[in-house]
Amino acid sequence: MGAHHPERPERLAAIDDQLIASGIGQHLKRYEAPLATDEQLARVHPREYVRAIREIAPSEGTVHLDPDTAMNRYTLPAALRAAGAGVLATDLVLKGEAKSAFCPVRPPGHHACRARAMGFCIFNNVAVAARHAVQAHGVERVAIIDFDVHHGNGTEDIFENDAQVLMASIFQHPFYPYSGAEDPAPNMHNVPLAAGSGSREFRAAVTRVWLPALEEFAPQLIYFSAGFDAHVEDDMAMLRFTDGDYGWVTEQIKAIAERYAEGRMISLLEGGYALSALGRSAVQHIRVLAGLNT
Ligand SMILES: [Zn+2]
Repeated sequence: MGAHHPERPERLAAIDDQLIASGIGQHLKRYEAPLATDEQLARVHPREYVRAIREIAPSEGTVHLDPDTAMNRYTLPAALRAAGAGVLATDLVLKGEAKSAFCPVRPPGHHACRARAMGFCIFNNVAVAARHAVQAHGVERVAIIDFDVHHGNGTEDIFENDAQVLMASIFQHPFYPYSGAEDPAPNMHNVPLAAGSGSREFRAAVTRVWLPALEEFAPQLIYFSAGFDAHVEDDMAMLRFTDGDYGWVTEQIKAIAERYAEGRMISLLEGGYALSALGRSAVQHIRVLAGLNT
């Protein structure tokens, strides 16, 4: 994304470092993310949009898609693999080869709307994966849990009024991208939190809003848009979540997954810019996803 941009390659190394330090990395099976195909992307984005991104991708230098979102010559393959990771994870989990999956991908995806890149996001990775589950595997009810500090406006744009997808999002408000204060459709469960909110407000909102909605929906597969930028140490925003909150929320969602979805959970990295907090929080999340929390 350019020098001094918070969405930087070191983010993935920070997660890897903590996987090693915690000892849980050795229990995980690793896969290389394939490139998403145009057909997979076209389940979410108009073909003209996919074509335009391919055409604008530079062979040298940098082009900006919006003030925060740039492409260099490595960005298009990275974006295609970020979307492809969720597709592969979906195939592995639905074929029973894995019970759960975490996709440490860059660029993130949840601000990418149907036909618009924004907020560091080019393709909506979690949406491409969820549509793959529905259209290629015939899954009828998919839930997307988004705990990034920013509202997942792109995911909302794509799935609003899609009865096969429930989206639950908690985020700081008012804050970028300044959407989500109200639910635009019955399948959307937005919880805006005021700046300064911490563990208590987060856990209360999950318990009051997310869990009853998920119980009623009975998802057959659960995705996470896993952003860790609501952490108290992350100065991208002003929420005050702790490492333990990410383990806790994953446990709450896992209980739903075990009741309705055969335990199937797939998580895709979104934000998280304070490197140490990102690595530690991701490990809390992955530990529960992988069933290594005892
Ligand atoms: Zn974010």
